[in-house]
Amino acid sequence: MAVSTFAPPPAAAAVSAPAELVQHWIGGRPASGAGARLPLFNPATGAMTRQVVMGGEEDVRAAVASAQAAWHSWAETAPVRRARVLSRFLALLNEQRDALAALITGEHGKVFSDAQGEVTRGMEIVEFACGIPQLLKGDFTDQVSSGIDNWTLRQPLGVVAGITPFNFPCMVPCWMFPLAIACGNSFVLKPSERDPSASLFMARLLAQAGLPAGVFNVVQGDKAAVDALLTHPQVRAVSFVGSSAVAHYIYRRGAEAGKRVQALGGAKNHMVVMPDADLEQAVDALIGAAYGSAGERCMAISVAVLVGDSAEALMPKLAERARQLRIGNGMQPDTEMGPLISRQALERIRAYIDEGVASGAQLVVDGRRQAGTGAALTVPGHEHGFWLGATLFDRVTPQMRIYQEEIFGPVLSCVRVPDFAAAVELVNTHPLANGVACYTRDGNVAREFGRRIQVGMVGINIPIPVPMAWHGFGGWKGSLFGDTHAYGEEGVRFYTRQKSIMQRWPESTPKGAEFAMPTAK
Ligand code: NAD
Repeated sequence: MAVSTFAPPPAAAAVSAPAELVQHWIGGRPASGAGARLPLFNPATGAMTRQVVMGGEEDVRAAVASAQAAWHSWAETAPVRRARVLSRFLALLNEQRDALAALITGEHGKVFSDAQGEVTRGMEIVEFACGIPQLLKGDFTDQVSSGIDNWTLRQPLGVVAGITPFNFPCMVPCWMFPLAIACGNSFVLKPSERDPSASLFMARLLAQAGLPAGVFNVVQGDKAAVDALLTHPQVRAVSFVGSSAVAHYIYRRGAEAGKRVQALGGAKNHMVVMPDADLEQAVDALIGAAYGSAGERCMAISVAVLVGDSAEALMPKLAERARQLRIGNGMQPDTEMGPLISRQALERIRAYIDEGVASGAQLVVDGRRQAGTGAALTVPGHEHGFWLGATLFDRVTPQMRIYQEEIFGPVLSCVRVPDFAAAVELVNTHPLANGVACYTRDGNVAREFGRRIQVGMVGINIPIPVPMAWHGFGGWKGSLFGDTHAYGEEGVRFYTRQKSIMQRWPESTPKGAEFAMPTAK
């Protein structure tokens, strides 16, 4: 099977005019730093648009120092006043939603309506964080013993850090910093080096909302900046979202350095289709969840588990819809799927498709080619973009690499199984366990699925069950290292520590020294 060759990069990538620089944000203002500059591309055109400065130890030291200097007075600020700053930030995000969404589409490639949705989901966490006075309320027991009361309160940790992936440059940072700062911490964000502009956009809005300088900082970069955060003694906790191998590394290094860590990893999300499912709904769900955002979502469905004879009816419909998908620049309103994030991602995923074919899977729709003509896929007027069409494999088996590994692109693998028990067994055997879905009309099957499945987030006739802001987000097994899910009340617990205070006043009857374990009297 021939593989298309790429045209050389457009002239814009080669010109020497200085490109806009995406900087760090330290102490309430941009900081250029001395690190190397990495080019950023618009994935739909392949043209270089900006550069990002790559941070190192020195930049991390400056950001943490600024966060450390700011956090005491921020922690002393009444929660309701902290909430008011977030409430102004929320209003600004709402006003600027489309500008931020366009920035995301230009750097990530996802379609504009999807980028708008991402900003909205991020805003929902800010809305949740605005309720921090209520969320931080402790509990109180009057009279635990005669004349003694006991209560608990939750206090911030200090400087906390967030390290985020490319696929949600607004939403995933919003899983972290709004709650972290609402709880009274200061924050250092290390966004993805591939689409870093959203982080600075939000930093400016936070400053405009009245957040004191130093409470929110951004250090751009990659592993060097991450390692400096992981070893910095003043960073008390690290939230990470990204691939599983890096998540495990962060969890290990952070824990070794005595930090609290939550590290959310990669995914291989299955959708089980029972023979009694509404097939039209199942096809719609699979097409949207497998190919939305070009499959670059941690909750994307990448495996369809077709139970019994459901495959016979479903495969032709799926193939037809996958071939018809409208691929193009995400800023064009009728586009359903944009480009991949980078040329490297394109090459990596094309290699997975080769590998799937070589291992014996049936390639039903080949996203490398135009439907009908078989010519190499391209988008007119965007010949240098990072394009890959919807790809559909049938008769995939658990022994194949395309089944075992996260591909993170628009590739859907269909596995045929005889019955419900085999479907559950298949899902439960996979080492990644972020999200899962089951399509059925049978209430008992749905109930059993929800109870038996070993996955953190479950959808019944819902393909992408991303929990709302107040429920918390997290997978199981290799999809999350750590004890708490992101955001929701788990997020509040992660960004605070509990203190228990027991109190007796001097008027109490003197007791003298006590040597036995205190018990209620
Ligand atoms: P990635 O793991 O390559 O990068 C994530 C972050 O880690 C980035 O900020 C990057 O600079 C940094 N990083 C990369 N390599 C590193 C290393 N060796 N040492 C230290 N830091 C390093 O992930 P990505 O490609 O940006 O994002 C896609 C991945 O994120 C997918 O695996 C996807 O499933 C996962 N993801 C998971 C969730 C979730 O909630 N579980 C959500 C979104 C994305």
